Amino acid sequence: MEQDRDLYTHSANLITMETYCIGIDLGGTFIKLAAMRIGEDVHDFFAVRQIPTPESNAEDIAGAMADGAGKLMQEHGMDGANVLGVGIGAPGPLNRAAGAIVNPPNLPQLAGFALRDRIAEQLGIPAALENDANAAALGEFYFGAGKEVTSLVMLTLGTGLGGGVIVDGKVVHGANDFGGEIGHMIVQPDGIECGCGQRGCLEQYASAGNIARQAVDAIGEGRDSRLANILSEAGELSAADVNAARKDGDDLAAEIWDDATRYLAIACINLERLLDCDMIVLAGGLTKAGDDLLDPIHRHRERLAWRIVDHKAPLSIAALGNDAGVVGAAGVAFQAFGG
Ligand SMILES: [Zn+2]
Repeated sequence: MEQDRDLYTHSANLITMETYCIGIDLGGTFIKLAAMRIGEDVHDFFAVRQIPTPESNAEDIAGAMADGAGKLMQEHGMDGANVLGVGIGAPGPLNRAAGAIVNPPNLPQLAGFALRDRIAEQLGIPAALENDANAAALGEFYFGAGKEVTSLVMLTLGTGLGGGVIVDGKVVHGANDFGGEIGHMIVQPDGIECGCGQRGCLEQYASAGNIARQAVDAIGEGRDSRLANILSEAGELSAADVNAARKDGDDLAAEIWDDATRYLAIACINLERLLDCDMIVLAGGLTKAGDDLLDPIHRHRERLAWRIVDHKAPLSIAALGNDAGVVGAAGVAFQAFGG
């Protein structure tokens, strides 16, 4: 009975006392840290900071992550009594059951390392591991574009194309943790070969990196374009160069941009048919194009979507920018340990 009373007291404290979750976003160059404050109704986040990712070995990386989190806790009066847990966002693929990163291209020294348990052990608080795209989607869900909704899909249009799916407030992982890989949905049968082994994946047409790569490939094959001058002077192209050339009347750039936005519209429609989500959020470097990106996606959606009802999930640009991953990592801990 004594034990029951202690448990009751502990729960009562959790409800009345301000509690926190720590978020750590592990990148190849920086480790980002933030805290999420959990009040009765309102959640907010604070103390976003970053430290360099050690280049040496897995132990040093885990040590830097735990030290950074420990300092943040100390500075803000957090400890094992008022922190529910730490969430770690890391590049996939992950083995979430083992709390390890499987084979990260940018952090090869972490392959197979039991990162989650090592961080938990060093900080003395429970830890949860999530892939960085899902963590970013949770960040937008709790604090960004999706804070008023219960389901959203996020597409991160960067070098590649990452995805995160949240339904009824929970990240969709699927049976084997491979759910939400929106970048590898096939949008063009027998299309461009993808690194994953499929052909015609969305990522090959609509990530910032692949928009630029398609222009480089076409110029290499002899297509006439004003982008050829930029390529020969700078040695590379960006998606922003393609958008600028398109606005200057360049045919190749216009074709590539139109394809990218058409495939994104197809992905939006297919995701809506599957999930009937409240919102679709776009993030990543390509979203700097703003309405130059959104307007053609809207036009293609209007043309291609069904006529059964006149409703489309609102399409928004992410509100948190580069902070989505780290505050979402704190959200991962809240989902795992917040009751
Ligand atoms: Zn693929």
